[in-house]
Amino acid sequence: MNLIAGVMCVFTVALVTVLYVGQGSSVLARQQAKDDLGSILEMVARQQDQLTKEDPEALSHHLALQIPAQVDPKEISITQEGDLKRFQIKIPDISTSYFYDYPMAGNCEGIVDLTYDESEYGGRMELTCDGIYVMKKTVRKNRLYLDLYEPGKCFDAMFVVDAGHGGNDSGAMSGGVYEKDMNQAIVRKIKDTFDAKKAPEEKKDVSYVADQFSVYEQEGIGTIGVYYTRLTDRSVRLQDRAALANRLPADLFLSVHINSTATGRTSTINGTAVMYQVSDKSKRSKEFSQLVLNKLLKNLGSNSKGLIAGDEIYIVRTAKMPVALAEIGFITNEDERKKMLSDDYQQKCADAICQSMEEYLQKIRKK
Ligand SMILES: [Zn+2]
Repeated sequence: MNLIAGVMCVFTVALVTVLYVGQGSSVLARQQAKDDLGSILEMVARQQDQLTKEDPEALSHHLALQIPAQVDPKEISITQEGDLKRFQIKIPDISTSYFYDYPMAGNCEGIVDLTYDESEYGGRMELTCDGIYVMKKTVRKNRLYLDLYEPGKCFDAMFVVDAGHGGNDSGAMSGGVYEKDMNQAIVRKIKDTFDAKKAPEEKKDVSYVADQFSVYEQEGIGTIGVYYTRLTDRSVRLQDRAALANRLPADLFLSVHINSTATGRTSTINGTAVMYQVSDKSKRSKEFSQLVLNKLLKNLGSNSKGLIAGDEIYIVRTAKMPVALAEIGFITNEDERKKMLSDDYQQKCADAICQSMEEYLQKIRKK
């Protein structure tokens, strides 16, 4: 960390403290580091001395907070918000004066905004970062240390799983059922399945903040991080779905959809299809898609609608890694729709997809 970044950061934190005190208990401070430096710098210098004396380790972390004596560290909740760039930290049973009495410190690298407010629960901080990070937390002697890591530095391999549509975009619809809801139900089961796998051995008292992604150990590979474009019913732009996979960058990208007849009318047409990227000269997208299709057909006992060239689909065309877009079945077929609504069938889908991803990763890593 360079000195300026460190100073800016302590300054940011100090400023937050000052602002919210100034505005009373209902509010909230919202300020970025680039604002007015003048008088604040003196305060920073004062606080930096004081903080460094109390906790020399603080500035080597992104953020360091003192935990009030009455708060059990396990009760501090940290969640990563949907777009993965924001974290919410809730500390029970504290008032606005807490952040005034115990200023935070840290180098704040990658943190572009920090806000604070209060609810009946206690205090709540929101961190906004300049990209997607994995947060690790450490609790040591009544102090909470938060550190941000680039995903690629935490994981030996990464997957992105995409639940098609969401929010305003329902996708296909038939019999009062929306495609977006089925996609989401299946993806949540995929997450549960990955979450149930062997978690990495946490180094001593360091733990991941991982409610928006899965992390597990795969033999022969190491630690795998699995990211999801959405886990709730929200709108996500196609560009953002592809960008998540491309920027991480993920090793494999899989999207879950439900098919429909072109007219949307009820029909006897049924079966499972997988779209792949024809323009992928390595043929890995096709290979991966074939594996996904085989496993789905085996687990579901559905009819094969085969592999389909998918380059007209934005996320298939723009993915820079092997991509497969699974059309699980037809929402416009009554029998298939009923099956796809059942937990059991959805779990079979999830199992087929998780296995395909694991197996194909092994395969490409061995080459
Ligand atoms: Zn769809």
